[in-house]
Amino acid sequence: MEVNTENIVKQFLYQGEPVAQQFPALHQSVYGKPLIYFDNAATTQKPYSVIHAISDYYSTINSNIHRGVHYLSQKATEAYEVSRNTVASFINARSSSEVIFTKGTTDGINLIADTFGSYAVNEGDSVIISAMEHHSNIVPWQIMCGKRGATLKVIPMNEAGELLMDEYEKLLDETVKIVAVTYVSNTLGTVNPVKKIIELAHLNGTPVLIDAAQAVQHISIDVQDLDCDFLAFSGHKMYGPTGIGILYGKEEWLEKLPPYQGGGDMIKTVTFKGTEYNDLPFKFEAGTPHIEGAITLKSAVDFITELGMDEISAFETGLLHYASTQVREIPRVEIIGNAIAKTSALSLSVKGVHPYDVGVLLDKMGIAVRTGHHCTQPVMDFYCIPGTVRLSFAVYNTTDEIDRFTESLQRAINMLV
Ligand code: PLP
Repeated sequence: MEVNTENIVKQFLYQGEPVAQQFPALHQSVYGKPLIYFDNAATTQKPYSVIHAISDYYSTINSNIHRGVHYLSQKATEAYEVSRNTVASFINARSSSEVIFTKGTTDGINLIADTFGSYAVNEGDSVIISAMEHHSNIVPWQIMCGKRGATLKVIPMNEAGELLMDEYEKLLDETVKIVAVTYVSNTLGTVNPVKKIIELAHLNGTPVLIDAAQAVQHISIDVQDLDCDFLAFSGHKMYGPTGIGILYGKEEWLEKLPPYQGGGDMIKTVTFKGTEYNDLPFKFEAGTPHIEGAITLKSAVDFITELGMDEISAFETGLLHYASTQVREIPRVEIIGNAIAKTSALSLSVKGVHPYDVGVLLDKMGIAVRTGHHCTQPVMDFYCIPGTVRLSFAVYNTTDEIDRFTESLQRAINMLV
């Protein structure tokens, strides 16, 4: 796609300053070179507001939640539930009881694969995923299908990295109990037509889980508008802490599903005869959770909201187009993933050169990229390549950084061939 790169915004401003000023980890040199961080799909850097919120939590209200009558416990519980409400508004959930704190996307998908599997999947049934899923949205379904005697069906994609919707329609039959697809491919950058995918599944009477790990930080998400049944994402990919994530589920589904783990907090009463489970969302939050992570996820959501999701999307799309245009000029470099709808991730294959070697040289030039299969081995098999060099953008990246990347990539290739 030809793009006019002249109008692309060079950097994102926050209160009149480059937004990168808010991210202390970006202001360092590695191997004597100023750091450029293009590994945002793996995890993002954290702004001061999140870092300070973590420190504030431990300096003031640190205590266990939901159980204490004392002041600190009440304050921590309140902050934990305020954060849940903030996330609920951020994704436009009907109610905060539909928002479950998890460890991250992987944890949320495993929760649904396990509980939904035992609730609704039997021998001869099937599950649909897509050809571009992260291993986190493949392996949990394989495990569940193995246990339940069900089959995994895969929506194929074309060379550009777009799902074949006609083939998807053909896969949807009465055996399909759930569809689980990624909103955005972490390797190809493809933005999938999830609304259509959900609509078609619902016509078949099938619920849908959306893996939003690579969407929630780039695209405005409205779970009611999407009408998805489940949606999972991770805090650490959206400027928040690691070890915390969100699983959204429609209340009618979460009410029906059995608990995932047993323990404290997920119960109302326990006797040796049996247990009465707690109401939503606590039924799915057994044990002491990642309290500090959950509370400070609010700061990450507030940060994104303050910058404006539409502005973030427009800016990052600009960076993607700018970088794509630049790398197309470099001999031997091929973009893997050329869907019309793309965001943030740019995967490159360099003819005759192993991606790892490119990554190591770029690192020595101060540029952090990811190399390898990006936990999408089936995607690598599809393109018959060992891996890619992946850049993935965040709000603090700039066109100047992309210029430096392009020069450095060219230098690296010259050294390697
Ligand atoms: N799904 C996608 C599309 C991802 O990109 C990732 C991580 O890169 C995951 C799931 C897993 O996320 P986490 O490791 O935070 O659970």
